[in-house]
Amino acid sequence: MESRDEIKVSLMTKRNLGKGRIPNTDYKDRVFVLTRGKLSYYEGNLSKRGKLKGEIPLSAVKVIEKVDDDLLPKDFPKDNCFQVCYEDSLTLYIMANDKQEQEEWVSLMQEACKNNNGLLPMFHCGVWQGGQWSCCRQVDKNAPGCKPAFTQRSPADKENGSSTTNNRRPGKVKKDPLPAPPVPVHAKRPLPAPPPAAKVVVAVYDYEPSQPGDLELKKGEEYTITDNSRTHWWKALNREGVQGFIPSNYVQEKTEKGLIGEGWYCKDMSRQRAEALLKQEDREGCFLVRDSTASPGTLTVSVLCKTPQTTVRHYHIKQNPRDSKYFLSEKYTFPTIPELINYHQHNGGGLVTRLRLPPAALTGYAPATLGFSQDKWEISSTELTLMKPLGSGQFGVVRLGKFQGRMLVAVKTMREGSMCEDDFIEEAKTMTKLQHPNLVQLYGVCFKERPIQIVTEYMCNGNMSSYLRSKGRELAEDRSPLVDMCQQVCSGMEYLERSQFIHRDLAARNCLVGEHNIVKVSDFGLSRYVLDDEYTSSTGSKFPIKWASPEVLEFSRFSSKSDIWAFGILMWEVFTLGKTPYPNLNTTDVVRQVTHGKHLDRPQRCPHGVYRIMKQCWEKDPMRRPTFKDLQGQIEDIQEKDYCE
Ligand code: ADP
Repeated sequence: MESRDEIKVSLMTKRNLGKGRIPNTDYKDRVFVLTRGKLSYYEGNLSKRGKLKGEIPLSAVKVIEKVDDDLLPKDFPKDNCFQVCYEDSLTLYIMANDKQEQEEWVSLMQEACKNNNGLLPMFHCGVWQGGQWSCCRQVDKNAPGCKPAFTQRSPADKENGSSTTNNRRPGKVKKDPLPAPPVPVHAKRPLPAPPPAAKVVVAVYDYEPSQPGDLELKKGEEYTITDNSRTHWWKALNREGVQGFIPSNYVQEKTEKGLIGEGWYCKDMSRQRAEALLKQEDREGCFLVRDSTASPGTLTVSVLCKTPQTTVRHYHIKQNPRDSKYFLSEKYTFPTIPELINYHQHNGGGLVTRLRLPPAALTGYAPATLGFSQDKWEISSTELTLMKPLGSGQFGVVRLGKFQGRMLVAVKTMREGSMCEDDFIEEAKTMTKLQHPNLVQLYGVCFKERPIQIVTEYMCNGNMSSYLRSKGRELAEDRSPLVDMCQQVCSGMEYLERSQFIHRDLAARNCLVGEHNIVKVSDFGLSRYVLDDEYTSSTGSKFPIKWASPEVLEFSRFSSKSDIWAFGILMWEVFTLGKTPYPNLNTTDVVRQVTHGKHLDRPQRCPHGVYRIMKQCWEKDPMRRPTFKDLQGQIEDIQEKDYCE
């Protein structure tokens, strides 16, 4: 009779463990019993159980997987074999009576052991025989497995025939709950940290997988994160139980206010960016909801009103302390924010105008992913199709390209001899890990063949300097797009500062503009690999003297503070709509001016508040210059407006 805590009992055949001095591979029928904490096997049969012959604590289990029928040696008496590896290197091979029984045992044991500390990520789907593994032909018995174990596979991946909880067939399993996860045992080998607790996120953009193992994301749908131990690529499960990698910046954690996935909600958006976006759309009632920068914890509705003249109004969403209901106007209160928005989309309700649709840019724009997929930064030239030239610079020609025939990218082909290639390749791996909405994403490098090609995010409006010259007049009609551009560069630079990464060549020409006036900083750190003395030496003809701080000119001392100086010059470029700084001075005069503390004048259309920021960047003493973090706050304050009640 089975006792109450027995989960499954079967009479199956086991292979001798071969623990003795003379390995002997004989086979025995045993009664296998799975309980909450262990797998035991007995002599006898199902109606009369005999002596206990062996016991494996489930907490010691490292692998539970099927063995491929095709890879079983001839001396195995049956198919339907599965393996239980445990402790240091013991493997028990058990042959079930049919496929269903094999499937049930593997499923139940994987479920019972899934939280074990010592689980191995890879396993052998064959057996060790004749001095090699029958699956991968490796000749070292301790060689790591050749197939990903169940913890690494997506449930849909039935390649190995190993089941998971998702494709488990119901069997003659007792109704008892599954065993509690065993107490973790201390593993002898360092093992990857167990994944942190699952959290539920909502996709804020669609994502189409670019590599096998990626998971498709559909905007607005929920996903469970099963592993977020890496920063940029997480493992997630969709509702159908399919698991795969997703770019972490395409999802947001579900919040108690339930706004993620709403087309009008944008979590991290500055007031400047909101104003610029809304004005660009230029539609009455165009609106968005964002987290207030002025009062953290509060949400703000920003809405465009076109009469009597175009303005953006900002309303704080307030909460009634008595019943916790939300309101913009005290007369109309709602239990949730989506209901409040819905009401004001149909009624003015005291606002300057009725809310209509959010800006298209908010719904249509997906950020760059970090690299093409997890761990892929080395790109093969066969994956790239080169198209029209976009421009040429210090290192060579930049072309529009397609990655795997579908994703637009920019490909910079490095002129041979223009850069210190080995050092750059080494560094590129780190640089692909830098990710921010205001940095041009470095996707990867194609370096197996020469010339080297650098593959980055494509920015459809080219470099900011030319953009300012051609589109500047339009932008300057209202100063907020210009402040917004500075704010975006400042955000990207604040991230570099936080990552202790020095740009060394910040200028409007090294920023790129995408759709909807998105500005991103590019070419960060590249100047270190240039082999041309005319560019690297402060006395060289190509050295960016007009962006260089006094300590760079005198001692080549680069730091985040020298980036700050260059940022001040960049702001000046923005507010002159792309003029070259110190227009009438030659380089010797510029050096003289800068080292004597004389600065650029205030551009004509530049507000005094903005010019004050530039002047702080041009403090002679680097320590007296602000940080990018300081500047972010200051730029935010430039347009401080009273919030509407
Ligand atoms: P530089 O060496 O002068 O910094 P680059 O070699 O980076 O210039 O690029 C030359 C020109 O090619 C840029 O000024 C820009 O117009 C264009 N370009 C470079 N990268 C991109 C990109 N990612 N997307 C669109 N255009 C780009």
